Amino acid sequence: MMFAHAGRCEACVADDLLYAKAIGSDRVFFVCAACSAAGVERPTEHLPAWEQSITGRIRELAPMGWTLATSSEVGDRLVAKEVDNFYEELIAHYPGFQFRSGFSAEPSDGADGG
Ligand SMILES: [Zn+2]
Repeated sequence: MMFAHAGRCEACVADDLLYAKAIGSDRVFFVCAACSAAGVERPTEHLPAWEQSITGRIRELAPMGWTLATSSEVGDRLVAKEVDNFYEELIAHYPGFQFRSGFSAEPSDGADGG
C-alpha cells in the first residue's frame, strides 16, 4: 500500500512529513515520522517538536485513532511523493496509530480457542 508523503517537516527539518487520516472523522492531518510533530496545519519551525507532538494532540486530532493517508484521501493537498508501508513500522509506536497495510503487529486475539 502506498501512502502520501507531505515533504519536509519544518519542526525537525527531516524529509519525513506524512499525511494521516483520523478514524471516524476522516480528518486529514500532518504527522512527522522523525520527530512526531503533528497538526492540521504543517508543523512549524516556531515551536519545539515536542510541543507539536502527536502525543499531546491525539485527543484533539484523532480521538478514535488514525492511519496513514493515501494520495486519493488527501484531496487537493500537495503530495510530495508516495511511500510504501515502511513508514507504518517507523511510526507504529505513536499513540492512536493503526496499521492498514497487510503488515500487522497486532497479536492474535486468541478468540478461536476451539
Ligand atoms: Zn519532524
